Amino acid sequence: MPPRGGIGRRQWLQAGGLAIAGCTGESVPTAGTGLPATPVMRWVDAEHGPGHRLRHKSGSLPPAAVQRRATVLVVGAGVAGLAAARAFARAGVDDVQLLELAAQPGGQSRGHELAGMPCPLGAHYLPLPGPAAREVSAFLHELGLLRHELGRTVADERHLCHSPQERLFIDGAWAESLLPPADPASRTQAQYRAFAAQVRKAQALGFALPSTRAPWTPAHAALDRLSFSDWLAHEGLDDERLRWFLDYCCRDDYGAGLQQVSAWAGLHYFASRHGFAAPGEREVEASAAVFTWPEGNAWLVRHLVMPLAGRLHTGRAVLQVDEGRHGVQVLAWDEQAGQLESWRAGRVVLAVPVFVAARLLARPPAALSAAAATLRYAPWLVANLQLDQPLLERPGASPSWDNVPYGGTALGWVDAMHQTLRHRSGPTVLTAYRSLLPGDRAALLQGRAEDWAAAALAEIIAVHPDLPRRLRQVDLMRWGHAMAIPAPGVRSSVQAGALAALRQARGRVRFAHGDLSGSSVFEEAFTLGHGVAQG
Ligand SMILES: Cc1cc2nc3c(=O)[nH]c(=O)nc-3n(C[C@H](O)[C@H](O)[C@H](O)COP(=O)(O)OP(=O)(O)OC[C@H]3O[C@@H](n4cnc5c(N)ncnc54)[C@H](O)[C@@H]3O)c2cc1C
Repeated sequence: MPPRGGIGRRQWLQAGGLAIAGCTGESVPTAGTGLPATPVMRWVDAEHGPGHRLRHKSGSLPPAAVQRRATVLVVGAGVAGLAAARAFARAGVDDVQLLELAAQPGGQSRGHELAGMPCPLGAHYLPLPGPAAREVSAFLHELGLLRHELGRTVADERHLCHSPQERLFIDGAWAESLLPPADPASRTQAQYRAFAAQVRKAQALGFALPSTRAPWTPAHAALDRLSFSDWLAHEGLDDERLRWFLDYCCRDDYGAGLQQVSAWAGLHYFASRHGFAAPGEREVEASAAVFTWPEGNAWLVRHLVMPLAGRLHTGRAVLQVDEGRHGVQVLAWDEQAGQLESWRAGRVVLAVPVFVAARLLARPPAALSAAAATLRYAPWLVANLQLDQPLLERPGASPSWDNVPYGGTALGWVDAMHQTLRHRSGPTVLTAYRSLLPGDRAALLQGRAEDWAAAALAEIIAVHPDLPRRLRQVDLMRWGHAMAIPAPGVRSSVQAGALAALRQARGRVRFAHGDLSGSSVFEEAFTLGHGVAQG
């Protein structure tokens, strides 16, 4: 939660003074001594207003000013919607059109720019896809990010996260890797080994990404009934460092910690990807490598959007979707023109969160209402901080792409310039991430930018007290409903319940959104979008 009262001019000067005193031994400066001006702190979620138009829509909309037609109409141009449009276009449907609420496509994988420097607003990396992510791999091959060489799949190193990838601030210094260090003979190390053995056991049971390509057995269902926290306690895995690390991983991927996500989700994080290794057990596998770009996954979005030029209509808040016998009618508010558009389409893909789809459909199917009642969402705050110079270094591991303080409840920050070949002494942008509890949503949506900026800055200032001197601007993005939480029971719905029914719907109205996988990552959203054009 943000500190009450925010960060005003006076507090700002105090923060800057503290920083200078802490770093150089200088005394606290006063106003008029050449200290940086209070930086601009602002929200950059322009679609926040139009998005809520949906909530306030009345039964009596004005008559539509424009009538349009499409063979296939995709609602929502996030990764899933863009992948769906791409797949329909490739299947020979010329007339695919997309309606997107925001001014920019990409949804939670949108990018941003601060002082000419690209940075992410949401998703910022894509791990090397495993064998089950066939459609994602094919897309990456098409972009030249992957290629076949002497019978092996090789990634284009320029797009892989440059080394060093990550570090942890612990005991007053930076340590390599995010796993807290442990002495070889310590109990922590023994617990790391025990967890690694559990992950190997889970891998033998079968986990995959996309998750629906893994087997679903009574043993998986049993894991879905328990919280990850309870499962760890049951297995005697109670070491503080191990639990902090696992909690961090869950918050990073699912927006919710060990007590909120299921044991299935906690194990899936490791077992579906590169596993888990105790320090010294084995080298970090090459498969732990990730693709990333200064603007995050917006780089991938740009390549999805390019072939859809002319078919993407941004600034359109879809208000109502009504399925009739001969087609589907969609009403959308054109924000710029200030008028209502009516679309008639043969098929409609709802590539929007499940709770939005349930509000849009005039007659939502029972599975949609059930799914909307099942899912809860984690809100997220993303703060992009423009610095005039890199921060002063602390002892230990070198500056990395991902930087995380141990023990905190925020998720650390990535340096958007790490991936450029630019000299390190210039300006940069740090992107700080924080997942919140569903109960924090109202405070996030109604809060002042200064208050939330203060919360984001506090985590970094604790490690780098010189931050206030380097800071020029803070652009804040709030995601009220960022990620569907894979809480106990959600996986069973994805496999065989309401979420499975939505994924398999093949009528005039189809569903595609990361939500349908019960958690949201690029591989799930892309594969769901691609699949909706089949059959
Ligand atoms: C802060 C954050 C960090 C993340 N980091 C990563 C990461 O590093 N790697 C990763 O793989 N994943 C990450 N994710 C997960 C991310 O959600 C997925 O990767 C992916 O972008 C989800 O795509 P989607 O299409 O399913 O959903 P969305 O991105 O939610 O797309 C839905 C789209 O529908 C639009 N829409 C909604 N309502 C309407 C309406 N009424 N009318 C018209 N349009 C509408 C929205 O504006 C949006 O563009 C992150 C998510 C967040 C929030």
